[in-house]
Amino acid sequence: MRVLITGAAGFIGSHLCDRFLREGHEVIGLDNFLTGSPDNVSHLFGNPNFRFFKYDVTNFIYLEGELDLILHFACPASPVDYMNHPIHTMKVDSMGTLHTLGLAKLKGARYVFASTSEVYGNPEVHPQPETYWGRVNPIGPRSVYDEAKRFSEALTMAYHREHGIDTRIARIFNTYGPRMRVNDGRVVPNFIYQAITGKPLTVYGDGSQTRSFCYIDDLVEGIYRLAIEEGLSGEVFNLGNPTEHTILDLAKLIIDIAGSPSEIVFTDRPVDDPDRRKPDITKAKKVIGWEPETSIEEGLKRTVNWFREKLVAG
Ligand code: NAD
Ligand code: UDP
Repeated sequence: MRVLITGAAGFIGSHLCDRFLREGHEVIGLDNFLTGSPDNVSHLFGNPNFRFFKYDVTNFIYLEGELDLILHFACPASPVDYMNHPIHTMKVDSMGTLHTLGLAKLKGARYVFASTSEVYGNPEVHPQPETYWGRVNPIGPRSVYDEAKRFSEALTMAYHREHGIDTRIARIFNTYGPRMRVNDGRVVPNFIYQAITGKPLTVYGDGSQTRSFCYIDDLVEGIYRLAIEEGLSGEVFNLGNPTEHTILDLAKLIIDIAGSPSEIVFTDRPVDDPDRRKPDITKAKKVIGWEPETSIEEGLKRTVNWFREKLVAG
């Protein structure tokens, strides 16, 4: 397949480039480096099956030749990043989605949209199945991300219904692993950086809020299956690890795994920070035969090792 990946120099996008290339596909990556880095794809430069363009997908996109699959993953994903770039976030998941869907229509390509568990907002239903409509504050600080993702989901379904495009939506729950930016502000890189540099771990609120953390290799396997399997047109899937942890327990686990002398400090909780989050992955298990395999201990060990090497290398 000839595959276009937007957000290719980001955390998830770069791992997807690796996977599609490893499976023998041709990959074209687009990224404007807003929150990604050339370092994430520099090992692929020189690979004849990989082409990369520094490009902002809020602009019109045109590509020569055939295209079989588009994965639209461009978008700041850390709450710190999307609150620093609120308007760009809304543009990349409205205009960027429109342009990539238009390209899918032109080329007759299959389309995978990277949505998020944030479409469920601060959920009243727990765990969250795909059938839950969510509880999002439409004017709060997180709405730039949540509502843009909800708009993109609606637009993706509109292109599916009106133009018959083979679309698939992945609602991704908190995913972590190597290639996250040390300072991206999300909880796993924050805690790991703090633990390995001996700084206090910053737990927001009392740490009783929960998240369910999926290791990157498991997520990539789920996205790959969702993208290549036949008969999934117009479907939406939760992809995430269903094992739920409080943020305080995560902090203690990372201190333990890193062998760190760090203490834990408690600071203010961000506005509209969801209280609980855990995917119901019954559908992914049944339809694409997918479930995560990496334990949190193993995934964190690998990520801590990667961050250590990265910090030593500068
Ligand atoms: P990331 O910030 O590492 O990657 C996003 C990439 O998109 C970056 O390389 C950035 O430079 C690029 N980008 C942003 N605006 C762009 C534009 N206008 N044109 C081209 N490129 C642009 O984040 P990530 O964690 O890799 O997330 C990737 C996708 O997965 C996002 O759509 C995100 O919403 C979604 N997602 C991620 C998670 C997670 O836990 N990591 C959870 C849910 C959803
Ligand atoms: N969090 C925290 N300390 C940090 C960063 C995040 O306690 O240094 C909390 C945050 O308030 C949220 C959870 O960890 O409850 C997950 O935050 P993250 O930014 O990783 O992603 P979210 O799931 O909120 O999008």
